[in-house]
Amino acid sequence: MYASNDIPFLDLVTPHMELEEELTAVFRRALFTAGFVGGPMVEEFEQAFAAFCDTKSSVALNSGTDALRFAIMACGIEPGNVVVTVPHTFIATTEAISQAGAIPEFVDIDENTYNMSVERLQEYLEQGCTRNGSGRLISKRSQRPVAAIVPVHLYGQIADMDSILRLANQYGLTVIEDACQAHGAEYFSGKLNRWMKAGTMGRAAAFSFYPGKNLGACGEAGAAVTDDPVIVAKIRMLRDHGQAKKYYHDIEGYNGRLDSIQAGLLHVKLAHLAAWNAQRRDRAAEYDRLLAGNDAVTCPYEPSWSRAVYHLYVISTDDRDGMIRHLKEAGIGTGIHYPVPLHLQKAYAHMNYGPQDFPVATRVAGRIVSLPMFPQLRADQQARVADEIYAFTSKTAGSREASEKAVLS
Ligand SMILES: *Cc1c(COP(=O)(O)O)cnc(C)c1O
Repeated sequence: MYASNDIPFLDLVTPHMELEEELTAVFRRALFTAGFVGGPMVEEFEQAFAAFCDTKSSVALNSGTDALRFAIMACGIEPGNVVVTVPHTFIATTEAISQAGAIPEFVDIDENTYNMSVERLQEYLEQGCTRNGSGRLISKRSQRPVAAIVPVHLYGQIADMDSILRLANQYGLTVIEDACQAHGAEYFSGKLNRWMKAGTMGRAAAFSFYPGKNLGACGEAGAAVTDDPVIVAKIRMLRDHGQAKKYYHDIEGYNGRLDSIQAGLLHVKLAHLAAWNAQRRDRAAEYDRLLAGNDAVTCPYEPSWSRAVYHLYVISTDDRDGMIRHLKEAGIGTGIHYPVPLHLQKAYAHMNYGPQDFPVATRVAGRIVSLPMFPQLRADQQARVADEIYAFTSKTAGSREASEKAVLS
């Protein structure tokens, strides 16, 4: 437990206390109907979540990782094909690609949004690839055909989808969105001249309902969304042992089904998601205001075409580790999302990437801190976080000046 003055990084208890009656009613319904896997509670949630996302369908699954893996497989990405993504993300993005049988390759991120850099993507497609005899786009790095792009809407902010889709169309690639952190985020498409929800712009998209996400289950859960009924049918087969009819297995599938209890709990919480997202945006604006005068920190950058849902509020600063220690001593919880970019993870040593292959991702990983962010965060708590950040940065600014003077003298 936290001391009364402590500020947690995340509070998952308060929202559940506020919804206690409705949430426990879900348990009773499952217990007394003995519907534990699939069934009406899952189907009701799927319809409600598709409606929330502005997509025709959603398929409820047991995790965001499986949602992305099945979406990639159902979009016809073949084993051995290359799927292009970013190194600044949670490893589930590339696990889903690899476990779908494809090969992840990276392009660097934008230094302001921390999402996929359109310039680097274009460079990869123009200079990192060639065409083979039959006109297929081949990665020079792996000598494999490039089939898809997986942009990640990190921290709840959508990547620059108009530009990514334009390049994808130009090169004949499928786009599958990793929207695991971006439930309800919006993007203004200049091309379509309207705001679009996360998950509506690619062929398919994956969402996670891991407890800490903007919409979180009380356990593991995820969903894939799409407008394409053929993709829906394929994902349903993949999640249920390759069967559309019981015990008639057209393909070998997986056990990727969602529990009815989780679906019911998610359905209750979904009714509050838009309000919670709005509160997160208010909290983010408050941090922006409180930290605006502090030159030692960079606040999140939200382009005019983005309405982020602030799954995380991530600032960057020179002495990140020192700041985290200072905040911890002041009873303030923080996180790092993520401390080691994927191209430098041990799991991907075989890819033979070095720090300079993706210099922005490498640099950002050493500078970022995620501040407390959840809908129930209070303005007085935020003021204390900002005060402690000032206390720390003014101290280190002083010592930096002193050491610069020492060097000069
Ligand atoms: C959480 C997350 C996932 C995976 O979701 P799980 O439900 O934990 O499997 C994938 N990608 C990103 C960017 C995530 O944040």
